[in-house]
Amino acid sequence: MQKLRLTTLTPHKQTDYWTVCEVEKLFETPFLELVYEAARIHRENFDPREVQLSTLLSIKTGGCPEDCTYCPQSARYNTGVENEELLAKEEIISKAKIAKAKGATRFCMGAAWRGPKEKHMKMLREAIAEVKALGMEVCGTFGVLEEGQAEQLKDAGLDYYNHNLDTSPEHYEKIITTRKFDDRINTLGKVRNAGLKVCCGGIIGLNESRKERAGLLASLANLDPQPESVPINQLVKVEGTPLFEAEELDWTEFVRTIAIARILMPTSHVRLSAGRQQMPEAMQAMCFMAGANSIFYGEKLLTTSNPDNNFDAQLLHKLDMKPEGSELDFETILQQQEEELLQAHANGELSSEQTAEHEHPAYFAGQQVGGCGSKSNDGVGYFKAQA
Ligand code: SF4
Repeated sequence: MQKLRLTTLTPHKQTDYWTVCEVEKLFETPFLELVYEAARIHRENFDPREVQLSTLLSIKTGGCPEDCTYCPQSARYNTGVENEELLAKEEIISKAKIAKAKGATRFCMGAAWRGPKEKHMKMLREAIAEVKALGMEVCGTFGVLEEGQAEQLKDAGLDYYNHNLDTSPEHYEKIITTRKFDDRINTLGKVRNAGLKVCCGGIIGLNESRKERAGLLASLANLDPQPESVPINQLVKVEGTPLFEAEELDWTEFVRTIAIARILMPTSHVRLSAGRQQMPEAMQAMCFMAGANSIFYGEKLLTTSNPDNNFDAQLLHKLDMKPEGSELDFETILQQQEEELLQAHANGELSSEQTAEHEHPAYFAGQQVGGCGSKSNDGVGYFKAQA
């Protein structure tokens, strides 16, 4: 096999344009060389011990009219996810306060809509302003935005808008038919024009080919400017969704995807997102080595489970990492959580399952019982056309 020289492909200026072929070549790089190069680029741009913590709250769950074949919230699939009402503002603010107390610096609100209706905007604006007043960064993921909505959200205090490309342009129609890849680029253009930061990533494991994975990464990297935040999700297969039987990907392919995201987007936060619950600790550590420096931190990721804060804090403490932009360190966070649990135990507030778990001697030895523990291939043309 011809040896690939990463130095011919890196370093890259923000203005560089990535072809799908170049990204495919990166995928062919020997695994450890790829991770090493990603780690090097990561260290040039970030403190490698720091991890940015975002907490995601589903403020409107289920009943979505879109047909994303990976999503249990689509009303078209029988997944057991109910169509719930929009949460009250008070509940949202209360969850944001809890997230902050547990070390999160960004609070993301997600709604299962095609896009927000005018009747939703007042509450969204108020909730954004109140979360912002807590001293947190605020992110929203509310779907397709109409003219003027991005500006309203920005004026309310929103920092980031999340809108994922999901998959490559070529694979898009096999995954979603109720919207087009260009619709995503269109909304991203509105977000940028309003002066919001962009959180934009995709999902791995949607039966896409490696070339299509390369196409997704090239599309993300060719956005101009590149997204500040890049969530890389591994499909969580949910029974009832069309992708429940999707082909399993080897873990190294996910780590390669993280490493290439870091190489292509050196100054973006690359976030380990959905699918982390299914990843062993060592795989997560390898992802951090390969340049991931952000996680979703909390018990639920919209409707699928996420490692709880305690597991996250233990793992990140073990890896000698620290929360970015927070005065707390993971040791303090773990102590606080233990004190809260002891208090809840004393008050009889734990379920019988939690009580049994927390009375197990191993728990208080600091170990959790029972194991440890979103045309051309590029998008740039579209985005620039919108910007
Ligand atoms: S991914 Fe979002 S837009 Fe697609 S069905 Fe789920 S909630 Fe709706």
